Amino acid sequence: MASIGHIAVGMAAGRWYAGAGGRPSWRPMVAFSVLSLVPDLDVLGFRFGIAYGDAWGHRGASHSLLFGVALGALSAALAARSGHPARRVFVLASLVAMSHGLLDTLTDGGLGAALLWPFDEARIFAPWNPLPVAPIGRGFLSPRGLHVATTEALWFAPLLLYALWPRRRRPRARSGA
Ligand SMILES: [Zn+2]
Repeated sequence: MASIGHIAVGMAAGRWYAGAGGRPSWRPMVAFSVLSLVPDLDVLGFRFGIAYGDAWGHRGASHSLLFGVALGALSAALAARSGHPARRVFVLASLVAMSHGLLDTLTDGGLGAALLWPFDEARIFAPWNPLPVAPIGRGFLSPRGLHVATTEALWFAPLLLYALWPRRRRPRARSGA
């Protein structure tokens, strides 16, 4: 999967976290989008000789539900230091991080995601695979990459619209003094 879908999930989560009122707030949208992309840092493993199918290979441990919860806990700990509600961040960040592996199971290529690692290293696909798998690395800058990006943008348009749609602030009650 290209990154557009994961970014869309993060942006929508950030918008929801910041509250529906007012204009989109960029900080939580950027923070949750980065979090949503973290599992794909596993592609760096290719450089160090870690094979796609290894436990820590691409779509391996970092795409598991347990890793998602761990990322949620880490996010909550970091957010609490700057005064954010830890429990709310934990729940939302865990869901965003877990969504990454789940969404990757909807793609039509590569290996599935090791959702159940470390209990089961099987690579899992969803029974329905509407999302085209993205070429890795520079291969993305190709007609195939454009096709993947366009398809994803269409699928995730509702989340992007939710995240970016401007809303009016509620008028503040005036004090009578
Ligand atoms: Zn991924």
